[in-house]
Amino acid sequence: MAIECSKRKCPNPAIIHQKYSGLHLCEAHFVEDVERKAKKEIRKQWLIERGDKIAVALSGGKDSSALLYMLKKIFQPRSDLEFFAIAVDEGIKGFRSVTLKNAEKIAKELEVELRTFSFEREFGFTLDEIAAEGFEQAPCTFCGVLRRKIIETKAKELGATKVVTAHNLDDEVQTILINYIRGDIERLGRLRGRRDEFVPRIKPLRGVPEKEVALYALVAGIAISTIHCPYAALSFRFTVKKMLNVFEKKHPGTKYSLLRGYERLSEFLPTAQQSGRELLRCERCGAPSASRICKACEIVERMRSSLTP
Ligand code: SF4
Ligand code: ZN
Repeated sequence: MAIECSKRKCPNPAIIHQKYSGLHLCEAHFVEDVERKAKKEIRKQWLIERGDKIAVALSGGKDSSALLYMLKKIFQPRSDLEFFAIAVDEGIKGFRSVTLKNAEKIAKELEVELRTFSFEREFGFTLDEIAAEGFEQAPCTFCGVLRRKIIETKAKELGATKVVTAHNLDDEVQTILINYIRGDIERLGRLRGRRDEFVPRIKPLRGVPEKEVALYALVAGIAISTIHCPYAALSFRFTVKKMLNVFEKKHPGTKYSLLRGYERLSEFLPTAQQSGRELLRCERCGAPSASRICKACEIVERMRSSLTP
């Protein structure tokens, strides 16, 4: 027999058992729980203000598709807000073309304008070409920097006042742990707040486990592709992800404790704004940067010299 929902007086069958909270939730209460967590995060991070133009980073994967669906649902009564989506084609054969098709489909269904930009057009090479160079760092290192660069510049150019990304609890905790392991205190601080020079970023799904985002997408009827990026397994993040999943299974609640622990600790960390470090302008592209040449332009130069015969 199906287990009943743990919410008071709810007779519906549960569709999920949240081991970390001890609750069994039916479909309606599960959806409510996920949306409540997302709203709380939005309030905590940045307020959505009157007339905001919100850029949603959409990859076409389950997280960003679910996020776009949720934002449209939550903010439906707010006619003063404008949403548009930004997709990035990194040039990963057999993978991104599939998820980008999903992105187009969901954007169309939700009537959100989608703008797609590619590494090839913006930088002159694809991620597959970077990977073929066999650099010491994993392809994800380059991919992340270049994708962030595109999202940041295009969001700004298109007049966005907020950027929303689909990072979930797992992503966030992985990032925290990676920075702990590397001893990168500066980056840990930066996770908390960005400098005023950048468009404010919101991560509404930061408090929702990856598995629950997938279930939310499923319940919402969003078609999910099970295709994975061929480079994902080469990254340090992948090792950390596997380790965290083992911990979570043995000790439910680990991911939330890590997030909460980080939040308490981060009150003592200087934010990017308070770090006192002067922010320079990249000599190549003029973007705000911590060094003379920004990370993205560094990659572009490295690739250009590598590709020149
Ligand atoms: Fe890029 Fe790595 Fe994500 Fe693949 S897994 S899309 S290489 S960041
Ligand atoms: Zn630059």
